[in-house]
Amino acid sequence: SNPRPTVLLAGKVHPRVRERVEAEFEAISIENGDSSLLDTDARARIRGVAAATAISAEFIDSLPNLEVIANFGVGYDAVDAAHAASRGVMVTNTPDVLSDEVADTTVGLLLNTVRELPKAEAYLRDGNWESQGAYPLTSLSLRGRTVGIFGLGRIGLAIARRLEAFGLGIHYHTRNKRTDVDYPWHARLIDLAGAVDTLVVVVPGGAATEKAVNVEVLNALGPQGVLISVGRGSTIDEPALIAALQEKRIAAAGLDVFAHEPHVPQELMDLPNACLLPHVASASVSTRNAMADLVVDNLAAWLSGRPALTPVPECTGLDRASS
Ligand code: NDP
Repeated sequence: SNPRPTVLLAGKVHPRVRERVEAEFEAISIENGDSSLLDTDARARIRGVAAATAISAEFIDSLPNLEVIANFGVGYDAVDAAHAASRGVMVTNTPDVLSDEVADTTVGLLLNTVRELPKAEAYLRDGNWESQGAYPLTSLSLRGRTVGIFGLGRIGLAIARRLEAFGLGIHYHTRNKRTDVDYPWHARLIDLAGAVDTLVVVVPGGAATEKAVNVEVLNALGPQGVLISVGRGSTIDEPALIAALQEKRIAAAGLDVFAHEPHVPQELMDLPNACLLPHVASASVSTRNAMADLVVDNLAAWLSGRPALTPVPECTGLDRASS
């Protein structure tokens, strides 16, 4: 028998996660978080999961000797962490190592949205510059804007610092007012939307933020309003956003995340005032490698009796010895 712990690779895991798990543990793979694909013996051997897919309470309960779920990504809304914690199962995510990359991408998406840079490049590549002359002046500009950050956490603050350097005013909404920043805080999202003309959404997904950006919030943002969404698609009422863009109740939107990925509604595709990215905010080789290493380092730590490196808040109090 082999003393190495067995780790399940669940979903389309990053190649570096696969390589390291196969080198450091006994590895089992499944396409998604459906443990009915595993026989009873395999289920009983699994002590860790490297998760690149949804992990339900039912899935957790089907693995009797599970000790740790290491989620690839800082957002772990697809993992039932509360249930895992109640069963003594550690859940980890990948904070901090992606914050600067995601913030950089968010600033790029904001600039692309207001200055229409992807459309201007398509105009050049289509030969229109030579045949028709200059690209039309953009009706929007970043100059003079005031930005509201919905979710001033690790990534939100990295975005705020960048946009502060651009000379823009920053406001924010979180449930708890931060004591370490001077930006004006709004206790309600609707009041933040009313105070700014540019709203950057970077809160976690899940029930607490489900469709928080609704028709009232979009109307409060107003006809010069720009919405940038890089948190989770579930936070936006997508049909309400589509209607607001169609009716010009807001000016434009830049989206990296969607309600039903990888499907993007045709109505959004048809909108000239929407700038759309396929969930690429953290998607560079170097940042994804750092995330992959943090996933495996968390598994290695917990499965060798050391504390997890980056436990999610639901699991910070979990006692290693009791599991
Ligand atoms: P943090 O936990 O550091 O920050 C989350 C922020 O959101 C905090 O300021 C928190 O403040 C606030 N918040 C949470 N819930 C609510 C709520 N119900 N109402 C108002 N504010 C709320 O997370 P990160 O900054 O590291 O990451 C944020 C999210 O970004 C991730 O969860 C993930 O979903 C998404 N993401 C998307 C990526 C992409 O590729 N597009 C890449 C990486 C992350 P408070 O608790 O006081 O309310």
